[in-house]
Amino acid sequence: MYIYLDVVKQFSCAMCGACCRRDWLVTVDEASYRRNAEWFSERERYDEFQKAFVRIEDRRGPGEYAYIAKGRDGGCWFLEKTNICRLHREAGHAQLDGVCQTFPRYPMDTARGLELTLSFSCPAVLALVSRTSPLAVLRSAEPPLSLGPGNAVAAVFPGQQQAGSPLRYYFELEHHFIDLVQHRGLPLGDRLGLLRETVRAIASLTGPAEPGQGLNTIIRTNYERLDAFAVPQQEAHVTAEILAEHFMVNLIFKKLFYLYGLQRTADFLEEIWRKLRTAATKPGGLEQVKALIMEMELCYNHDRKALLAKPAKPWTARPPRSAQGQGNQPGQHGGGSRQPGSGVFLGQ
Ligand code: SF4
Repeated sequence: MYIYLDVVKQFSCAMCGACCRRDWLVTVDEASYRRNAEWFSERERYDEFQKAFVRIEDRRGPGEYAYIAKGRDGGCWFLEKTNICRLHREAGHAQLDGVCQTFPRYPMDTARGLELTLSFSCPAVLALVSRTSPLAVLRSAEPPLSLGPGNAVAAVFPGQQQAGSPLRYYFELEHHFIDLVQHRGLPLGDRLGLLRETVRAIASLTGPAEPGQGLNTIIRTNYERLDAFAVPQQEAHVTAEILAEHFMVNLIFKKLFYLYGLQRTADFLEEIWRKLRTAATKPGGLEQVKALIMEMELCYNHDRKALLAKPAKPWTARPPRSAQGQGNQPGQHGGGSRQPGSGVFLGQ
């Protein structure tokens, strides 16, 4: 089963070169490394291969066999002035490493199948989500795009939750949380307030019994409350509130509630909205909001601990870190590298 946000299927790279010029390092899995070694050797260009693909000696994850060197201007070794990838132009898409084949798509291997979303750090993605209609979660038996075996799939659910944990019902909760965040009968701040109340109510479900019945009651009560607030007609233009909603839906779909805990994620979403709302009041408000969303997504990928542990901290991306510093942890896409995993996690 493939489960994905509708924008995944609509995405098309605008070849702006932004991701190829970021300060992250693109890490390369062993299969991609060997495939390229062979390709360059066959063309008697092994010297070039050695300059472009740098081995990582103390790798921490299966995707960290090597990284792609930077060119003189700080961009990717293969990036041409026209924003075309030289390796792609000469050898085709299948020759690229798994990360470059996949980005900005974010595939997650979960208990219900392969789930895909996108990184909002890509300008083409941000353009795609600059729409008024809510993001939709789609399901199909067919993949929404062609995915190879090395396409950087992050395993989000490595272990089953203990009996009694509300996270045993994670998918039901995720569905409900997305419904809450998308209920436009209420201002976004009120939706997030209801989300906060909801996670508190869930946390109070104690005792030896399975929490399923208690969760049902909480969710049903929420829907009854929401029914009292009619959803207005869709806005004619995208607003800061709508962009923030899309960003949050994407984050929830990326399993933040599962990975970081219910209360912490609810607090984090409220903090995001505070910052975006402030950005919206500045001159060129909507563009400020978009820039901040991109920055947050980058910061989230670069250094989650700094981003999430102290919400009051400014949203500044950290300087690049070496590819050796990246781990291949569940649910992460991009560290200092454009690869699943910084290994830096809240509270770890
Ligand atoms: S940032 Fe997005 S649109 Fe630009 S080159 Fe990368 S994937 Fe393509």
